[in-house]
Amino acid sequence: MKIFAQRAYCKEGWNQNVRITIEAGKIVQIALNSSAKDGDIRVDTLMPALANVHSHSFQRAMAGMTEYRAKGRESFWTWRDLMYRFLHRLTPDHIAPIAAQTFMEMQKVGYASVGEFHYIHNQPDGARYANPAELSEQIMAAAKTAGIGLTHLPVLYSYGGVDGRALTGGQLRFANDLGAFSDLVSRCKTAAKDVHDDTIVGIAPHSLRGSSTADIAEILSMHKDGPVHIHIAEQVKEVEDIKAALGARPVEHLLDHAPVDARWCMIHATHLTEAETTAFAKSGAVAGLCPITEANLGDGIFNGPTFLQAGGAFGLGSDSNVNISLTEELRMLEYSQRLRDRERNVLVEGEGSTGKTLYLGAAKGGAQALGRTAGRIETGALADLVAINSQDPTLCALREDQLFDGLVFAAKDTVVTDLWSAGRHQVQAGRHTAEEKITTAYRAAISDLTSDI
Ligand SMILES: [Zn+2]
Repeated sequence: MKIFAQRAYCKEGWNQNVRITIEAGKIVQIALNSSAKDGDIRVDTLMPALANVHSHSFQRAMAGMTEYRAKGRESFWTWRDLMYRFLHRLTPDHIAPIAAQTFMEMQKVGYASVGEFHYIHNQPDGARYANPAELSEQIMAAAKTAGIGLTHLPVLYSYGGVDGRALTGGQLRFANDLGAFSDLVSRCKTAAKDVHDDTIVGIAPHSLRGSSTADIAEILSMHKDGPVHIHIAEQVKEVEDIKAALGARPVEHLLDHAPVDARWCMIHATHLTEAETTAFAKSGAVAGLCPITEANLGDGIFNGPTFLQAGGAFGLGSDSNVNISLTEELRMLEYSQRLRDRERNVLVEGEGSTGKTLYLGAAKGGAQALGRTAGRIETGALADLVAINSQDPTLCALREDQLFDGLVFAAKDTVVTDLWSAGRHQVQAGRHTAEEKITTAYRAAISDLTSDI
């Protein structure tokens, strides 16, 4: 496959008339100042596509259901109660259509890949399915339908709190122990061979609430490579509970008790002291930031300036999928910092374009977090690519060096025309190639799911 782009971001800058050859999902040749030939796929502006580092795809189906203020104060924890009730109703037949719709929506806004942090393993009463990897396999089937690059992250979730209490009620669907988890990961690795070649299986201790320090050490000794993701410090109450039980704040504790390095992605690095922020940045781990969800749940604001100053890597996640929008996710990341600091262009060190810093930073960190050779247009990298229309009214006034700023601050996701996930050309002229099929199946699943709510 050959793509001819009027403009492409490669070799550390914008280049004109770029012809890219893709074979077996990878970029094998890049010709600058080239010319289009018959059969080339022509696009306006080509960029490395981002990885979405954190998703719970089933939560897409709950979007908009929790935005009503009931008596008392709404909080993360009441949201979580509804989420538990909702997922009690989910069957294997719902999981794949919902995930496929979610993945397709991600691709349409410019994500080539997703890290699915997957913690629903069991039947509603906690019994295992005949195939313990049944629900993971539904996620993989959805990735195959949508063609998205999948880093599947089966979750180890054993406890209902940092004190080691048992899981109860809605949490029984998540429960596993070390033995069940190990079996699940190996089944996932086998099942992944039937998806796409770029499918990756990592591991995910749920959080310091859901997994013990000893269990985390044990699964690390069993799985010596691949991505490791964990929810780390989303809520103040969580930080306080962990400090009370373990004698240290979550990031502090994890850095002291686990070999945190570039394999790791810490999701929701929201409540960190200055010292934790710097130590985290220097560990080489990626901060998995989910600005829309973190705003929606009232979590708090990431300590961006200190983290970037210490050279920290970050990626973006759509987490609850309440609104799947790459442009809004990037905007929210910067705007939350501006509102807190009452400054502008906060997430740039020294001087430079904020949009470019955010976009390319998220491209690099996101690829690292998902274990993908991507996030840049260069030979040998996976062809995770996105094309936008620079002639859209929201962008057409801008110079080339302002395009990333336009994308982040002025544009809507509809400027995305094409998207490739490891060379699979899934979005063409703004439509997903399986859009009708995926959305029809999604509507049927939702109709069944909500019929007697
Ligand atoms: Zn999450």
